Amino acid sequence: MTGERRCEVAVVGAGMLGASAARHLADAGCDVVLVGQAEPTDRQTHGGVFGSHHDVARVSRIIDPDPVRAWLGYRSVSQFAEVAARTGIDPVNPVGHLWVDSPAGIDLLAEADVRYGLCCQRRGAAEAIESMGFLSLPDGCETLWEPPPAGSVDPRAHVASETAAAVAAGATHVVALVDSVLAGAVGPVSVSTDVGVIAADRVLLATGAFSGYGKSPAAGLDLEYALHTQLLVHLDAAEVDRLAGMPSIIGKFPDPVDDFYLTPPVRDHLVGHPPGSGSRHILKVGAPQDNHVRATAAELVAWFRTDGDPVVAVRLEQILEGLLPGLRGIGRRTTSCVTTYTPSGFPFIDWVDDGSHRVACAIGANGFAAKCAPALGELAAGLFLGRNWPTEADRELFLARFRD
Ligand SMILES: Cc1cc2nc3c(=O)[nH]c(=O)nc-3n(C[C@H](O)[C@H](O)[C@H](O)COP(=O)(O)OP(=O)(O)OC[C@H]3O[C@@H](n4cnc5c(N)ncnc54)[C@H](O)[C@@H]3O)c2cc1C
Repeated sequence: MTGERRCEVAVVGAGMLGASAARHLADAGCDVVLVGQAEPTDRQTHGGVFGSHHDVARVSRIIDPDPVRAWLGYRSVSQFAEVAARTGIDPVNPVGHLWVDSPAGIDLLAEADVRYGLCCQRRGAAEAIESMGFLSLPDGCETLWEPPPAGSVDPRAHVASETAAAVAAGATHVVALVDSVLAGAVGPVSVSTDVGVIAADRVLLATGAFSGYGKSPAAGLDLEYALHTQLLVHLDAAEVDRLAGMPSIIGKFPDPVDDFYLTPPVRDHLVGHPPGSGSRHILKVGAPQDNHVRATAAELVAWFRTDGDPVVAVRLEQILEGLLPGLRGIGRRTTSCVTTYTPSGFPFIDWVDDGSHRVACAIGANGFAAKCAPALGELAAGLFLGRNWPTEADRELFLARFRD
């Protein structure tokens, strides 16, 4: 793209929410430009912004203690499949999902199981271990297994699939870094990028952790960040065979320091592997990060350039040893990532301008946007299409708030 491009809606941020929103808008006949920066080739030297979708897998499930999150997950399942059928890019790894918790914690998931007819299986720890020989769980916990298509979702593939569907429906995809989004009193909103200017009637900001980058109407939103460290274990073919049938797993324990999430072996299409290993499979473990911080875009960039926190990495090794005793990895590494949090626990999907309804945001995905991205993108697109907000999702939860 050179010079100026006119469009009805510019979606800034070609990540999990932006790509889904662009697809919904293009399907509805909007002239859409989806603009976002490419994945860093070298994280240490990368300039500009990072995305939270540059990874091999995210846990995907409908069961959730929160009914709105469960509905968003349910609404997304069919959309993942529909878009995959259109593009031939299927992000879903339908291996099932196992939630490990106290009996009281498992009780909280029952409503989603019943409401969406999921036919989940509730089992004690011993019974679950019996059916999955590779697994070890502490006595006293219970498990709920959600059948496929729960499992994991490949966030890169999700973005690729949604972007391809949007483009096939008429959207333009521009790979560029956006420096500023300026809405004057009248006229188009000016989206300034490193390859030219987009003059858009309206703009959706779906910039993930980087709403504070450059000049943007989203600057000052009441957001906090969790700085994550993940452990990635490379596996050979024999170990992948031994772990056959492994679901994605979330573990919740009396001491939250023991909590974890795990995605089972998936084929990694992009990242480096131990030389000569012949394997491209990665199993991944991480832990929820409750220590949320305020951070500038520059501070987030500095974190993304690291390999994460070595202290957390040791803890993740211990969790893995306890959960999958005897796991034989042929290589290990850690990565950093960021999730963005709002006070309500739900993304801000709302107008963020002076009342003229020309600039909206879909920001602050609170760590669950991978499994819910198609539905969250649909809510954001709905603002532009004048659709009624669905009754299943309390509108108040999604209203944008700026810091005082
Ligand atoms: C370690 C970790 C584990 C997670 N696990 C799960 C899980 O198991 N299940 C689940 O459902 N979710 C999970 N998540 C959450 C999920 O990955 C995020 O919620 C999701 O990626 C957020 O989507 P987003 O579109 O808001 O942001 P992103 O996916 O980060 O997309 C934002 C995009 O905007 C682009 N961008 C930003 N600013 C600019 C700019 N100025 N110019 C151009 N481009 C710009 C970025 O490059 C990026 O591509 C996890 C997240 C992390 C970090």
